[in-house]
Amino acid sequence: MFTLVLNLILSITSVQEINKNENVMKFELVKLPYAVDSLEPVISRQTIEFHHGKHLQTYVNNLNNLIQGTKFENVDLETIVREADGAIFNNAGQILNHNLYFTQFTPNGGGKPSGSLATAIDAAYGSFENFRKEFETAGTGLFGSGWVWLAKDKDGKLSITKEVNAGNPVTKGLKPLLGFDVWEHAYYLDYQNRRGDHLKELWKIVDWKAVEARY
Ligand code: MN
Repeated sequence: MFTLVLNLILSITSVQEINKNENVMKFELVKLPYAVDSLEPVISRQTIEFHHGKHLQTYVNNLNNLIQGTKFENVDLETIVREADGAIFNNAGQILNHNLYFTQFTPNGGGKPSGSLATAIDAAYGSFENFRKEFETAGTGLFGSGWVWLAKDKDGKLSITKEVNAGNPVTKGLKPLLGFDVWEHAYYLDYQNRRGDHLKELWKIVDWKAVEARY
């Protein structure tokens, strides 16, 4: 009985401690704009569950712990990615990367971009087909873990950037528009070592309306 009462008192104390910190900003796991199995067969339900539910959730938990008591405690994600280094940069970069990644797909995706983005792609790469080829080449040619991005500068000019590990074009003053994750966790369950095949398939689920909105 004594132990029960003691445990009760201890648990009440720890709840109060959590409440005291309520004003501290917490990053949250981005919500998927589609069902976990709806991107199949391009990305399986199992890959989405691990990638979004485990890998990304871990980055979110890590960052929330790491920023406590630092100057990044109440700072927005992009600013953290631009200014931090080490573990804080790695976890913040991966949250920013995956937030963009998971919200650029749709089960009804594919096709081609339209409007001013289509015009800019034609101007920079000659054609959409040629852009796609260069993007895939960048992704397959990246050694180790990282990302390939379509990004724009302040004048709207497009470029393809290769970023290792948690890199994001914002650190180069560019705005990321479309990002393919080439970490093995993004494709290994479905494609094993065939990164190139995975990148080719991803075009089928790109939500060009979402990408155009970023441009
Ligand atoms: Mn990933």
